Amino acid sequence: MKHGTTHCPSCAEPMERHRFDRHQSGAVAVDLCFPCHAIWFDQAESLQLAPGGVIELFQAIHRHGDAGRRPLEARLGCPRCRARLRHTNDFSKSGTFVYYRCPNGHGRLTPFFQFLREKQFVRSLNSAEVARVRAEIRQVQCSGCGAPIDLERGARCGHCGAPVAVLDAGAVEKAVRMYSNAAAKSAPDPEAVARAFRAMNGRDRDAGTRPEWLERFGGARSGADLLDGCIDLVAGFFD
Ligand SMILES: [Zn+2]
Ligand SMILES: [Zn+2]
Ligand SMILES: [Zn+2]
Repeated sequence: MKHGTTHCPSCAEPMERHRFDRHQSGAVAVDLCFPCHAIWFDQAESLQLAPGGVIELFQAIHRHGDAGRRPLEARLGCPRCRARLRHTNDFSKSGTFVYYRCPNGHGRLTPFFQFLREKQFVRSLNSAEVARVRAEIRQVQCSGCGAPIDLERGARCGHCGAPVAVLDAGAVEKAVRMYSNAAAKSAPDPEAVARAFRAMNGRDRDAGTRPEWLERFGGARSGADLLDGCIDLVAGFFD
């Protein structure tokens, strides 16, 4: 069944329909709310998205980087039947992830962060990284729900429970490689992207040991979402 405009289950604004590459063939249409950082999937569409589709999602998020950020509302309503969406815990190899599903089977709302977690694109910061970030940036924005996280109190959101996380460099390199192989369009060198990530994580000896995210998120951008910064870094290679 095809629908007209889908309204965001959180902020009720019209969502943007995007088509992304699917695993086997063709494309899948999903609805995105950039200020809420969330995706609406009709039924189980999420499972079919190819790695190249994830790269396209990063590009779309990057293009809307100035959209501002709205924390998710506590009550989320199905855009088809208005029933209250149910908070659902699920599991993948990288651990648990969360989405909000319609009890009448119309689909599910997944925050960008939870979607990337499901697809094993994100990793939590380790304790040494948390200590370094905490030393210079007191507060970050939760990638899951948009609430502020006070790092003095821990590396997990007190509101939605999401850990402070960044994109996983290995997963990104693999996705860029698959995208480059599949796309006739010009694509960046996957190794250049991986190098940038190692530098960002302070793991590239030539670049020194100071994680670049401290540069990217300190000062004026303190309180920002680390994952958004990682997505900007990847998407920047495609500009
Ligand atoms: Zn919204
Ligand atoms: Zn519904
Ligand atoms: Zn949160």
